[in-house]
Amino acid sequence: MPIPVPPKSELTPADLRRYARHILLPEVGSEGQRRLKSASVLVVGVGGLGSPASLYLAAAGVGHLGLVDGDVVDESNLQRQVLYATAEVGTPKVAAARERLHALNPHIHLDTYPQRLTAENAWDIIAQYDIIVDGTDNFAARYLLNDTAVLQGKPFVYGSIARFDGQVSVFYAAQGPCYRCVFAKPPGTAQNCAEAGVLGALPGVIGTLEATEALKLILGIGNPLIGRLLLYDALAMQFDIIRLRKNPQCKVCGEHPEITSIEPGYEAAACAQAAEPDLPADANLSPEALAERLEGPHPPLIIDVRSPQEFALAHLPGARNIPLERLASHLHTLPQETDIVAVCRRGRRSAQAVAQLRANGLQRSYRLEGGLQAWRDAVAPDFPI
Ligand SMILES: [Zn+2]
Repeated sequence: MPIPVPPKSELTPADLRRYARHILLPEVGSEGQRRLKSASVLVVGVGGLGSPASLYLAAAGVGHLGLVDGDVVDESNLQRQVLYATAEVGTPKVAAARERLHALNPHIHLDTYPQRLTAENAWDIIAQYDIIVDGTDNFAARYLLNDTAVLQGKPFVYGSIARFDGQVSVFYAAQGPCYRCVFAKPPGTAQNCAEAGVLGALPGVIGTLEATEALKLILGIGNPLIGRLLLYDALAMQFDIIRLRKNPQCKVCGEHPEITSIEPGYEAAACAQAAEPDLPADANLSPEALAERLEGPHPPLIIDVRSPQEFALAHLPGARNIPLERLASHLHTLPQETDIVAVCRRGRRSAQAVAQLRANGLQRSYRLEGGLQAWRDAVAPDFPI
């Protein structure tokens, strides 16, 4: 089912020449190209992801593109943000982007918003577009995009990148889960590119996949990533797909939604939640209880969410090391039918890990309360931590 777009625009002779390779495809044809011309897409964040996404959307002939970004081009952006030239360092990104995209395709309409998307402006900006493409690098912005898109009944093409890993999905509450269904709380230690670093070509892959999904949604062809999360591991050069489920308790698209409007102060609330996930009491396991389970007939799988360096110094026998920031890309390797116990040094990272595991359907996930320090104090005095 294609998403609704306004009445179709007619194609001009120039359009027929420019989009000939689209029109040759029976799945697109002149009908599809008219749909693209009639459609509008908002790209929020014109950085590593927004650069390739907006270039391909403009080239494809999406008739109305909106670009939101409050930053100026920085020299350190040029390693991956392929919209910009060295001479544009210091220029507002949306101004440089507009010039580049217009040079590529003068037939499309471009609107630019030289500002950050906030709870104050999101509703009115997003209301003008059919599809939202995520080029942001932080959780607060994604919750704002997601919640506005859900409340306006629009699809939100999600992409994220860190170091060598990327993710893509399409969150469309009308047909599947939303971002908040999957990430009920922000994964706590997740860093943005500025903090964690990113391989330059990685956003090219993920941003291009986002553009592909947006085009498919407009054309109503293929299987969009609704209810599926695509994971890309550039080092292993491997793509995986995991299924995502709608969360009936979701705060924005669930059966009893708490978020019913986007109001000032909203972003602060989303960030405050990042600090400490509230786990249900039954998600906590004392060191004594864990020791007993490890001796029992069905020992749980232990995942140690600390860094490889911490893990190398000391760990529980049989523990598997999955650093918290890499957990999302390992979710599909974890068993549904075995108890999982997340451990870390003091119990904070493991709490975030369990929140993430449970949000992804792994309900038999627990954390070692107080972490390995508590384990040492209560069970194993010689444990070298
Ligand atoms: Zn939801």
